[in-house]
Amino acid sequence: MTKVLKFGGTSVGSAANMKRVAEIIRREKARITVLSAMSGTTDALVRIVSAAAENDQNTIDERIGMLTEKYTTCIEGLLNRYKQEALNRMQATFELIRNETSNFREYTSERKIIAQGELLTSAIFTFYLNETGTKAVCLNSPDFMVTDQEEKVDTKRLSEALAPVAADPDTFYVAQGFICTNNKGEIDNLGRGGSDYSAALMGAAIGASEVQIWTDIDGMHNNDPRFVEHTYPIRNMSFDEAAELAYFGAKILHPATIQPCKDKCIPVMLKNTMDPDAPGTTISNCDDNSKSFHAVAAKDGITVIRIHSARMLMAYGFLRKVFEIFEQYRTPIDMITTSEVAVSLTVDSDKHLNGIVAELEKLGTIEIERNNSIVCVVGRMEHGDAGLAARVFESIRKIPIKMISYGASHRSLAILIATEQKKQTLQSLNDGLFQ
Ligand code: ASP
Ligand code: MG
Repeated sequence: MTKVLKFGGTSVGSAANMKRVAEIIRREKARITVLSAMSGTTDALVRIVSAAAENDQNTIDERIGMLTEKYTTCIEGLLNRYKQEALNRMQATFELIRNETSNFREYTSERKIIAQGELLTSAIFTFYLNETGTKAVCLNSPDFMVTDQEEKVDTKRLSEALAPVAADPDTFYVAQGFICTNNKGEIDNLGRGGSDYSAALMGAAIGASEVQIWTDIDGMHNNDPRFVEHTYPIRNMSFDEAAELAYFGAKILHPATIQPCKDKCIPVMLKNTMDPDAPGTTISNCDDNSKSFHAVAAKDGITVIRIHSARMLMAYGFLRKVFEIFEQYRTPIDMITTSEVAVSLTVDSDKHLNGIVAELEKLGTIEIERNNSIVCVVGRMEHGDAGLAARVFESIRKIPIKMISYGASHRSLAILIATEQKKQTLQSLNDGLFQ
């Protein structure tokens, strides 16, 4: 059993939590432990970067001060023999960050600064393992997580580089999530929340028997526990369902995490660092066919773009023209519905909206609606099954629905609603489908 375990920022957010993590990885015999930066670090580093760009020295000092305090407290609560070494390592990190802010180069300084959280956290944790008699080595992820022009990680190189790790059961390897080297040879990252993806790639690269993602929640819930009462963790779900849920707002998992493990049939377990014995959720290629509805998730910040055009009537090629505009602006479309004379699309980013609308106006009349949410019901909904869609709509009969997407896969039914109706929608679905 070769396992890769990944711990999020809260799981390594204090000395006490790092001690829990050490216990867990020993118990699980983790081959590679992939760590995020201690909670709050990456946000603080991002803030330092923007302050550096604006020459705002006060903010830089303030944030470095906060981080210094946080890491010092952690090191002092965690280490004895290696305490001084860890403190020196920390000082060197903050010195490097200061230097980068005073010789600030956009992009390169930014990436370099943001990488320091994972680097420092993993170094401190490795000191702790070694100090407590666990033979551990801290890997440098940018040495083997290398992206190409398309920002995709070179998986062949990754497997080759990790072959010695895969073959060495006597050492606990610690690696940084999130960070990588880009195709120009500079330090870079996989995007916010990217550590899960790092872990999945490393798991696939060493042919792990399982990848475990440890956070501070008991796996995926059947509904959003922040908004809904009486939710419960889902024990088993398929990769396809998990992908839909992750994409539509189940915050616990980065959607792209799924793919490398799915491709290699490696189960992904979602576990809770604060309650290690709770079963959590196992995502695998096995379906739970016993239930029609497995879960509900919501995604906010959705903008609808409606295109009315008489030119669509009986015409072909119209949608291609629409899609090309989104392609040109590299903006993904989430939901789409069409009628004979209109198309409605949703996007989750307003970044290029003005440009997109200007182009679309050449094709027809455009309407924009902001502040919507996609609510997605995931489960086993075979297209021949009568009554399943009806049960969904029956549960939310009081909610005004703006768009519906059903039939694309037999895994999901998605509806679009105003975000102000979200809480009620989620609760109504929970009451109607799961109680
Ligand atoms: N530390 C990074 C972030 O906060 C990566 C991660 O935690 O996955 O986005
Ligand atoms: Mg995360």
